[in-house]
Amino acid sequence: MQQVLIAGGGPAGLAAAIALAERKIAVTVVDPADCIAGTRAEMLAQGAGAIMQRLGLGHVLQDALRIETVKSMWGAAHLQSHGTAPGLGVHGWGLDRHALSIAMRKRARTLGVRTIKGRIGRTVQTCEGWRTNLSYLSSNKAVTTPYMIDATGRPGHIARRNGATTCHGPNLVAVLWHVAENSTAVMAAEATQVGWWYAAPADQGTTVGFVTSPTTAKEVFNDPQGTLAHAARTLTAIPVPAHGTPCITVDCRSAVLDRICDTGWVATGDAAAAFDPISSQGLFNALSGGFFAGNAVADAIGGDAEAPLVYAALAARTAERTHAQTRLQYAALPFDTAFWREHAGHQIAKRRRTAAEQRQDQTAMPVPAPG
Ligand SMILES: Cc1cc2nc3c(=O)[nH]c(=O)nc-3n(C[C@H](O)[C@H](O)[C@H](O)COP(=O)(O)OP(=O)(O)OC[C@H]3O[C@@H](n4cnc5c(N)ncnc54)[C@H](O)[C@@H]3O)c2cc1C
Repeated sequence: MQQVLIAGGGPAGLAAAIALAERKIAVTVVDPADCIAGTRAEMLAQGAGAIMQRLGLGHVLQDALRIETVKSMWGAAHLQSHGTAPGLGVHGWGLDRHALSIAMRKRARTLGVRTIKGRIGRTVQTCEGWRTNLSYLSSNKAVTTPYMIDATGRPGHIARRNGATTCHGPNLVAVLWHVAENSTAVMAAEATQVGWWYAAPADQGTTVGFVTSPTTAKEVFNDPQGTLAHAARTLTAIPVPAHGTPCITVDCRSAVLDRICDTGWVATGDAAAAFDPISSQGLFNALSGGFFAGNAVADAIGGDAEAPLVYAALAARTAERTHAQTRLQYAALPFDTAFWREHAGHQIAKRRRTAAEQRQDQTAMPVPAPG
């Protein structure tokens, strides 16, 4: 019998699967795209080299674009975040998510991980474990497994279906284009009154993003050549996508679950806590969080019932610190406008604490006597 079922084959799910397989635990990863992501350039934060090595993925970094220069125009702000260019985190490498997913799936399969192209549907916890509906190959199959890992990304399907609540920061949307031209090793970012632009280079081209409110995102989506004066960029290092280049919009709010584990499940990666792309911590967090979640579940299977709780406390603390740092990045106020002020004042940590306290109060409430 498979001992652990992982919902989601992104970086967090595959890192958890690699950790479990190294501990000789039978694991299946279910993902609608069979764990293979589309092409998109993302920055891997400085310091992630150790976890990539530990996951057996050091060769991915050898082939990746090493970021040499960061160019930024950050309005009136002079904040030196992490001692680099204003407004940005420290970047190590420009990675193509497609290439990363291929390398991670290969590594997982080499260790014996089973991957299934499908989606985890309804989940019910019974005394034998999780009864789960697996939809794949246009059929539905019920499976039973003792442990589940929620690595479904921002939706956090498993955790939320099992009673956890997601606490969000202010609404934030990224409009993204992929420009398939030869990239230089320059990361660029520019603040405007209503959001910020970035250009992330990787071997397969450059991803250009504008991060803003949902209302402005709609305007930019309809006017991709950047004719909106208040959203226009001036840095030439941020390429203007050619007319007709397809673009997509994605939710990129800060988020965190009020509960990161419970009986028989843990959440990891964006499912547990998601970060504003200004932090550049999402990938690092998914890789390291997945690795530690996988090890915590392996420990729990081996009899250490507290290991998932320790993992969850660490993940919650990491989220709190990263969200606080994100708030400081906005508080530098490159422009004193509603967009920057809203993000500088967000209260996600407070919201999470309140939600967690309310949950504890509910649990402690005496059950009324029947009749
Ligand atoms: C615009 C933008 C730019 C970013 N740029 C950067 C950057 O430069 N650097 C950085 O470090 N981070 C960046 N991030 C963050 C980074 O992309 C994420 O943190 C990272 O992808 C999280 O990995 P994950 O495995 O947790 O989730 P995901 O990568 O979202 O993977 C989740 C997987 O679960 C699957 N799934 C969902 N539901 C189910 C289900 N019911 N059953 C089975 N499978 C399911 C999904 O299809 C998906 O394949 C950025 C994010 C955004 C939005």
